[in-house]
Amino acid sequence: MSALTPSTLRIGRRYRANRLEGPYDALVIGSGIGGLTTAALLADIGWKVAVLEQHYTAGGYTHSYARNGYEWDVGVHYIGDMGAATTARRLMDHLSQGQLQWAAMDAVYDRFFLGDQTFEAVAGKAEFRDNLVRHFPDEVAAIDRYLELLAEVSSGMRGFALSRLLSPGQLKLVQPVLRRLLPDSFHRTTRDVLEELTGNATLIAVLTGQWGDLGLPPARSSFIIHALIARHYLHGGFYPVGGSWRIAETIIPRIQASGGEVFTYARVQQILIENGKACGVLMADGERILAPCVISSAGVMNTFQRLLPPDAVTRSGYDRLLRQVTPSMAHVGLYIGLKETAEALGLPRSNFWIYPSADYEGDLQRFEQDPSAPLPVVYVSFPSAKDPDYANRHPGTATIEVVAPAPFAWFERWDGSTWGQRGEDYEAFKQALGERILEVMLEKLPQLRGRIDYWEISTPLSSQHFNAYARGELYGIDHTPERFAQHWLTPRTRIPGLWLTGQDIMSCGVVGAMMGGVLTAQAVGGLKVLRVLKRVMGGQ
Ligand SMILES: Cc1cc2nc3c(=O)[nH]c(=O)nc-3n(C[C@H](O)[C@H](O)[C@H](O)COP(=O)(O)OP(=O)(O)OC[C@H]3O[C@@H](n4cnc5c(N)ncnc54)[C@H](O)[C@@H]3O)c2cc1C
Repeated sequence: MSALTPSTLRIGRRYRANRLEGPYDALVIGSGIGGLTTAALLADIGWKVAVLEQHYTAGGYTHSYARNGYEWDVGVHYIGDMGAATTARRLMDHLSQGQLQWAAMDAVYDRFFLGDQTFEAVAGKAEFRDNLVRHFPDEVAAIDRYLELLAEVSSGMRGFALSRLLSPGQLKLVQPVLRRLLPDSFHRTTRDVLEELTGNATLIAVLTGQWGDLGLPPARSSFIIHALIARHYLHGGFYPVGGSWRIAETIIPRIQASGGEVFTYARVQQILIENGKACGVLMADGERILAPCVISSAGVMNTFQRLLPPDAVTRSGYDRLLRQVTPSMAHVGLYIGLKETAEALGLPRSNFWIYPSADYEGDLQRFEQDPSAPLPVVYVSFPSAKDPDYANRHPGTATIEVVAPAPFAWFERWDGSTWGQRGEDYEAFKQALGERILEVMLEKLPQLRGRIDYWEISTPLSSQHFNAYARGELYGIDHTPERFAQHWLTPRTRIPGLWLTGQDIMSCGVVGAMMGGVLTAQAVGGLKVLRVLKRVMGGQ
């Protein structure tokens, strides 16, 4: 076994009230990458921070789990921008104190199956372009303009992100200027922008073949999130050596260095409000932990619908604001184990996106209306092939992870049942769904027929149980153009002492949520955090 493996894959310290060593300068609710980033940067300026995580392990969607001799990641399949000294890589290196290593995927990092046709995303801007031009020789102008648009969004993001640090009053003042400065594509849907570039529906489908990475098909997603993700992976995909649990494991010591801790099994029941200010949290075991700063990384739906007293939400107007955003789509995950190595099985270091056709919106709509319609997208990822350390931890085996959309409504009748005891009908439903998804995968990987040793399937209720997303959300709130126009989605809330962090502040994705974490640390810690960040960006 590699030195990287903890015996149980449980990261963090199990919470007990008598293990608290307050007073804490800040409490962070949730140990996803957003919460950990904020906590670590505040620890850098000497703050003692307690991170409170309801799951049995830390990391949020970056956690991994082990069963039957295999190990799987839950919400990390590939991360971009890790191959050079980018802002994201520098931050990751800083947070993990250089302990986290990254393995590059194949040059083809994504492979798109559109019905009978196959296309690929190739690492490197020039390579990406040339490959597209090879498939679509008449579309050179559209492809080049597309790449320019990605760059425009990227530069516009700086102003957009900084605007998230302003007070509501300041934001109101700069808003008209910002709107003029930001490119027009910032306010439109992905499909709208792309249809202006080309009438070639297949090219649009290839360009948006990663729509599962953002949870909305192109006609509904904001071009901002499309561009951020497409550009994020433009120089290839990377995988954290040792598995995604290494992300939390390597960040936690930074939080502990200034006296803080990351507690697991630590469910926050309510955010305490006194005289209109957040002053601490009430834990599920009845313990009250007081601190002048409460930072929620649990997502805006959880924060405003479940964690705050309803009258505090109404008084601050968040009940009205919440109506402007919607939870993102629910999903199921298939976790597969094989008793041969990735190499022997011919598993690639690229992801598969399997679509019944290039009509993403139509396929999704048909599926939502009729569950027996073809699955609108099946995403397949090969973690053991991507991780150079996997063979050290689990010799002679391989793993596959598959994700597919599944409306929460399908599972609603089991909502409220206990994990592990949801009943035979639930198990039968899962089994049938899992077999259906497996079949889609096996069509593209026929060499695996008869060689699967073990599989299990998670449902939106699993995401609800382990990650506290009430409707099994993939990515927090939906990334529509309307979402990006919500000026209240900022670190600072209208309730003094309460801050938000994580993916709902900026965008989904490990790096998106990490950037949300950086913004919040900056908003909370001010100039001192800014100095830390300057040092990090200067590479010192
Ligand atoms: C299936 C799937 C695949 C993905 N693949 C990728 C990928 O390949 N690459 C990529 O970059 N991104 C991917 N993502 C997205 C990425 O994982 C997330 O956007 C990101 O990790 C979110 O981080 P976060 O800190 O905002 O939230 P989370 O990681 O969700 O953390 C929130 C935490 O808050 C905790 N919490 C909630 N309520 C409470 C409470 N009351 N008390 C205590 N704790 C609480 C939850 O348990 C959770 O741990 C994927 C996501 C999913 C679901």
